[in-house]
Amino acid sequence: MAHCLICNSPTDRRRFGGRFFYCPDCDFHFADRSALPAPEAGTGYGADYYKRGSSPLDWMFRVFTVLEQKRILSAVKGCRRVLDIGCGSGWMAQRLQHQSAEAYGVDTSEAAIALAAGKVDASRLRCGTLASANFETGFFDAAVAVHVLEHIEDPVAFATEARRILKEDGILLLRIPNLASLEARLAGENWYHFDYPFHVAHYSPRAVTRLLQTSGFRDVRISFAVTEYRQTLLYSMLSALGVPLPFWMKLTLLPLQVVFMPLSWLLALSGNSGTIEVVARK
Ligand SMILES: [Zn+2]
Repeated sequence: MAHCLICNSPTDRRRFGGRFFYCPDCDFHFADRSALPAPEAGTGYGADYYKRGSSPLDWMFRVFTVLEQKRILSAVKGCRRVLDIGCGSGWMAQRLQHQSAEAYGVDTSEAAIALAAGKVDASRLRCGTLASANFETGFFDAAVAVHVLEHIEDPVAFATEARRILKEDGILLLRIPNLASLEARLAGENWYHFDYPFHVAHYSPRAVTRLLQTSGFRDVRISFAVTEYRQTLLYSMLSALGVPLPFWMKLTLLPLQVVFMPLSWLLALSGNSGTIEVVARK
């Protein structure tokens, strides 16, 4: 028996080979922490992870990446002081700086912070968790966390801290994998974003709405029109057909993203995209 990390309801329902608890009250899936393995050496998010996005194939799809980045930047346009939680190599903080924002970043990876320091004012970067960064209360006009929440073991503490450091009426923008999407349902544990044990929490639109409301946010708005990670639908379809996907094959298939773009857009329009964007106000 466990208690839901969002709504505290008791639950003994397990999914994904017993590795995750499921809370029917708020639709949240969270990893059984007692069974979480330590990540194997050499896996996970090392310095190379933060340098990705610069291969020739990545450049081919740069136009899509730039469009996706513009969506985030326009959501926080006009905000003076913006924090990028999980800032990685600092690409977003750098663009925020270009649009005249005071851009701050926090990341648990020293390798990431070292890369970010080459792009933005290093005095505004913190290496550690959001909690350990201990920013002033009411300091930021906006906080952005792109693909961070699925890594967080205590989501209410995270969201509460994010709310504390925002000004009244400040904006929180999250992007997270959508466990209620078609691609997640097709692939199950082979879903691109399942990524166990790095991803320890999985959300549906209902679950993340409940989390933010529980943590004191208002005006929670979910958007599905996110077409980042265009390859994930293809991976899920191949996985559902039982086709194994070694890493080299994923790279070979990357150009097929073009074919899957229209399908990804259609699914996004029907509220079924693999990633959801959430915007809420303090
Ligand atoms: Zn719950």
